[in-house]
Amino acid sequence: MSKIVAFDFDGTIVDSMPRLADIASELINRYYGLSLKISRDLYILTSGLPFVEQLEYMFPGKKGNHEIVDEFERKKEEEVMDEPLFPETKEVLRALAAQGNKVVISSSNFQHIMEDYMLGCGLRPDLVLGHKEGFSKGRDHFNYIKKHFNADASDLIFVGDSLRDLDKARDNGIRFIGRIGTFTANDFKQAGADEVIHDLRELMQVL
Ligand SMILES: [Mg+2]
Repeated sequence: MSKIVAFDFDGTIVDSMPRLADIASELINRYYGLSLKISRDLYILTSGLPFVEQLEYMFPGKKGNHEIVDEFERKKEEEVMDEPLFPETKEVLRALAAQGNKVVISSSNFQHIMEDYMLGCGLRPDLVLGHKEGFSKGRDHFNYIKKHFNADASDLIFVGDSLRDLDKARDNGIRFIGRIGTFTANDFKQAGADEVIHDLRELMQVL
């Protein structure tokens, strides 16, 4: 039976996490003096949220947060088009669509960034959802997807690379498949996710 397969963006279909972690850790180190290593670990640990929420989670109410977020988002926007798709992304998304599945991208990046990236890289998913005020990856996106396709939670699968993605899927009763890379298979397992893949091609076997 055909499904709606929703993909997170950074670290799931695009190999962008190493560079994003570099940008974030350099900023946290420069503004708050934490070591690059700890800054990076904190960034990874909280990934899957909009960066503004990650920073608030790490440094609640701290004065430099706004400036760090502005600088991060500016840099990300400048560089995002250079971030490559994982080598198998196009072929897998095409194969899923050819089997009658719906393909959705659901990201914490701003909507216009997502739309520009899709145009630039030639991906044509059925739906592209980015972040807007009051409209985030997770419950908002899942509800929108269900309405758009007149579907229910059991028709939907969410593929993501972060433990936050797992939480979001679980909180909404949606099947989750974790892409290993940002987190290990063991990290996902300990967090309660038993379905993991190393490469998007494995989706063709497990769906
Ligand atoms: Mg991600």
